This record gives sequence, C-alpha cells and structure tokens, in this order.
Amino acid sequence: MLDIQAIRADFPILTQTVNGKPLVYFDNAATSQKPKVVIDAISNYYNTINANIHRGVHTLSQLATDAYEISRQKIQKHINAKHSFEVLFTSGTTHGINLVASGFGQFIKAGDEIMISAIEHHSNIVPWQMLCERTGANLVVIPMNDKGELIIEEFEKLLSERTKLVSVNHISNALGTINPIKHIIDKAHAVGAAIFIDGAQAAPHLAIDVQALDCDFYAFSGHKMCGPTGTGILYGKEEWLNKLPPYQGGGEMIKEVTFAKTTYADLPHKFEAGTPNIAGGIVLGTAVDYLNSIGLDNIQAYEHELLEYGTQKLLEIEGLTIVGTSAHKTSVISFNLDGIHPYDVGTIVDKMGIAVRTGHHCTQPIMDAFCIPGTIRASFAFYNTKEEIDALVTAVLKAQRMLG
Ligand SMILES: *Cc1c(COP(=O)(O)O)cnc(C)c1O
Repeated sequence: MLDIQAIRADFPILTQTVNGKPLVYFDNAATSQKPKVVIDAISNYYNTINANIHRGVHTLSQLATDAYEISRQKIQKHINAKHSFEVLFTSGTTHGINLVASGFGQFIKAGDEIMISAIEHHSNIVPWQMLCERTGANLVVIPMNDKGELIIEEFEKLLSERTKLVSVNHISNALGTINPIKHIIDKAHAVGAAIFIDGAQAAPHLAIDVQALDCDFYAFSGHKMCGPTGTGILYGKEEWLNKLPPYQGGGEMIKEVTFAKTTYADLPHKFEAGTPNIAGGIVLGTAVDYLNSIGLDNIQAYEHELLEYGTQKLLEIEGLTIVGTSAHKTSVISFNLDGIHPYDVGTIVDKMGIAVRTGHHCTQPIMDAFCIPGTIRASFAFYNTKEEIDALVTAVLKAQRMLG
C-alpha cells in the first residue's frame, strides 16, 4: 500500500493553489509533475559537475561523463536492455520515432508497407507518412473498434511480406487503451517486419522488459515519467542500430573526419551527435530511481484503483459519455458532455483549480472516427487521490449546469 500523502509531499507544485483553489493536476498524460529529488538533481548537476562529456581529460568532464553513462546503465537495467549501447538518449519520443523513420528509408522501396494503427499520436503517424512520401511505400492502418481497441484479426489479415515495419503505441494517450503488444510484436516478426513501440504512455505506468517483448525499437519521453523535459530514450536492438544510418551528423558521432570521408563512432555515440542534454540525461536516471523507490507494480495497482473509481463516479453524471472503454486501460478517462464543447468544460473546471486537457490530444484521426471535435481528458498519476476525483466530478456537474 502506498502512503499517498507522503508521496504528495515529494512534489512541491502540488501544494499550490490555482485560481484560489487547491491545484488538482489531471494532465499527467501530457506531462507529469516532478518530485523534489529530480528538481534538486538538476541544480546539483549545474552547481557541482557541469562540463561537456566524452571530450575532456579534466576532472569535471570525467565526473559528468561518468554520471551520464551511469544514468544510461540505470535505464538499461530499468527496461532490461541487453547492452547499455542499445539505450540512446534522445529529446523525447518524437525524436526517437524520427530517428528511426529517417534512417529506415534505406530498407524500403516503392510498394512496401509501413503499418501503424488507428489510435496513434501524431508523432507516430507523421514521420512514417514522410517516410512513405520519400520512398513510395504505402501507409497501412490497423483499424479500431468502438471501444477504442485495435481489431487484432484485421491486423493479422493486413500483414504480408510487403509489411516492412509495424509501429504502434503500447498505450493510447487519448483513450488509455493498453494494446496487446507482445502479440503484435510476434505477428510482425512472423512476416519479417521490424517493430517499433511508442512507449510514451507506458513507461510512466508499467515495468517494461524490452528483451521479453523482443521489440526492435521502443521509445519513451522522460518528462511524462517524472523526469525533465527535453529528455527521452530510444531503445534499439544492436543489430538494427548497426544497420541504421546516423540521424544527424556532427561532433560526438564520428570516429574520424577528413574532407574526403568520415567514419562513424560506435554505438551509442553514432546516434548522439552534438552536445546532448547532459543534465537532463543524468536526471532522467534520478527520475527512474524515484519511480523504482515507489515501485511500478504499486503505481500500476493504485492508478488502476483511481481509474475504476473515476470511471464509476463520472458515469453517474447524466449525459456524460466516456470515449475509450477497453477493458485494458491505464488511468486515462476521456469524456464528453452531451451538447457541450469540451473546451468550455475545460475552461470552467480550470477556474476551480483543476487541470484537464481538452481537444484532440494530438490524435485527430481518433476524434474523426468517433465524429467528435475532441474530449475532456483526465489522466491520473500515482500522486492523485480519490478526493481530487470527487472535486473533478463536482466541477464537471457545475460546468454542466452553467453550460447546459
Ligand atoms: C506524448 C506522446 C508522444 C510524443 O512525446 P513527446 O514527449 O512530445 O516527444 C508520442 N506518443 C504518445 C503515445 C504520447 O503520449
């Protein structure tokens, strides 16, 4: 059992009032709040060991390099990657997807297929569309049912020897659906396709084991899992990272440069051109330590309790519809009130100190499929409480009275 009050005390921002009301932060799927250990680790880095990494022989540079590489190893262990050089620091999930989509053109010809799903974030749509435009490949979309679940029989029918890569999210940011990714990975491999998992919504909530999953790529963002913005991880299997060309050219990613020819550095540096977000990378390790000190299994169990409580309480409101009703969901509730625009609800609940997201959540195709302009999305983290959900219900009822 988690001591939620003790956990809340780790997050300085949660003691604030917003618009004169205690802050209720339910926009965790957009970005999580940061515990004090993470905030302090950033200033500690700049106060004590700030230097550029992998270059200097001087002591601070050594210390910064060591801290950066220790963080990489921590994250390797956290996701159970086989090698630390399979763990690339990125600026976030978007960067990781673009890195692979950019280099993957090398393995694609006209008529090949890249497969995504109906419930992807724009970040996991647009880079693959760009790849298709460059190569003449076709984008194929796994359909969803009216609960917001992927239709797995259709997925299996769409697979063929033309399928070169399948990229799906582990968990949908707009609906909360948890996809059966182990099954999807195995089926993709059975036709010889590579498989990329967008784990942006999974890494904050579940323990991830990339070797057990056997995925070729897995990407996530630091800022959604208590880490700093501008940080992220791309895991890639050694054989794929060796095959893929570098994404950006510059310092740090080279072995030898002459004007005639450049040879590239070994993994992971081949994909880490330029001075990275050193403080961010180090502190992402601090965030991972923090999450592990609470335990992802505990987090998952408690967030599920919040999901069930919130679902039940919100459904008691007449005229409220939940969008995304899979039996396998993380703590995301997307909903609408009959005849009321989501934006108006968001504005009124904000006046009551409650932060929810309104709009299409970077998933316009999902909204189009449900024929809605957007939703109101409440996404819970392990530092949220049932009392806060009660406050949301009160605020939604008030919005309904005012706008209805
Ligand atoms: C947030 C999110 C992204 C994009 O992450 P960035 O941190 O903005 O790069 C991609 N996919 C999903 C499912 C997300 O939730």
